[in-house]
Amino acid sequence: MTAAANGAAGGFERSYGYAPEGVWAAPGRVNLIGEYTDVNEGHVLPIALPHCTRVAAAARTDGVLRLRSREAPGGAAELSPAALVPGAVPGWAAYPAGVAWALREAGLPVGGADVYVESDVPAGAGLSSSAALEVATALALTELHGAVCERPALARLAQRAENAFVGVPCGVMDQMASACCTAGHALHLDTRDLALRQVPFDLAARGLRLLVVDTRVRHALADGAYAARRAGCEAAARALGVRALRDVPYGRLGDALGGLGDVSLRPLVRHVVTEGERVREVVALLAAGEPRKAGPLLTAGHASLRDDFAVSCPELDLAVAVANEAGALGARMTGAGFGGSALALVEEGAADAVGEAVTAAFAAAGHRPPRVFAAVAGDGARRVLRGEG
Ligand code: ADP
Ligand code: MG
Repeated sequence: MTAAANGAAGGFERSYGYAPEGVWAAPGRVNLIGEYTDVNEGHVLPIALPHCTRVAAAARTDGVLRLRSREAPGGAAELSPAALVPGAVPGWAAYPAGVAWALREAGLPVGGADVYVESDVPAGAGLSSSAALEVATALALTELHGAVCERPALARLAQRAENAFVGVPCGVMDQMASACCTAGHALHLDTRDLALRQVPFDLAARGLRLLVVDTRVRHALADGAYAARRAGCEAAARALGVRALRDVPYGRLGDALGGLGDVSLRPLVRHVVTEGERVREVVALLAAGEPRKAGPLLTAGHASLRDDFAVSCPELDLAVAVANEAGALGARMTGAGFGGSALALVEEGAADAVGEAVTAAFAAAGHRPPRVFAAVAGDGARRVLRGEG
């Protein structure tokens, strides 16, 4: 991390002509199980990836925010405090600008800053580069200005930035994972009250690997479909007289489905309720030291997302089917779907064969080559360099 932190500090210095006060890093994430449960106030189980976004920054006394990113060449922005208006900042700069806006709106004493961003979280791959950028920025701005904000509150404000300033209606899982995960653990999070529990997740110690397959596709219907699924879940909760679908007990699923007049809502409810139960079961298996037994639950989760929630796509279905045929213990799409990434739980000795089988199947189907890597549960956001200033 030191070399990467120094790299970000060097980028800052080349951009602004002086050294930063510090560098802060926040990871991307992969969600083991619990998809679309966070937008129903339910439970999720992400791990932080070793891949991070680094923000090198220094405070300014004039309230101005200057923003640059290695990944957005030509996309530099300079924003006065008056320019921080929801919807008014175009492009990538809306993410860090939105964070400054949300922190100030919450009454935190956050002034201006010079900010330089570098990331090795692939953007748009369902691995949450947006939350990594938000959380690293939030940590940098609060520490630079001596503002005190606990991690869960910081994550909520980062989510608010994405919802209200950028205009993306995401849940809180990604920001919480980036802010609160710890190495060697999965984060069991209740997205209603943000109660969290660190669940041991050291696959290597048990001879296992978690493969991530970034399909490198993102289908155009993703955003509209995401909003439509959310709206469907909200309509179903209203029809069932509950605050959110997480309030439908698994044991009452049959009654709930029978009680829904609008039959088109039934598959949505079935997914959310069974997925909540799968989170509970996977957490119990991990806590009992039985990660292998979680494999079939991952695959069942994929079938539910594909058939009931209808957010998968041919590339994700192919990755999951081929991984399982090649010997994975289980596999599923992860993230919002319509492209992005899949994950597979595999025996250490089968990891290469599974990765190669998926890559070969993509070539045979005429898809772009996927990016396959083994994920280890890393740490959440932290300061990685302290400047001399
Ligand atoms: P995901 O979070 O799954 O990677 P999103 O669509 O939510 O996908 O967020 C990706 C967007 O976040 C990018 O299009 C860009 O606007 C912004 N972003 C993420 N990382 C960076 C970065 N390092 N530099 C500039 N913009 C970034
Ligand atoms: Mg995102």
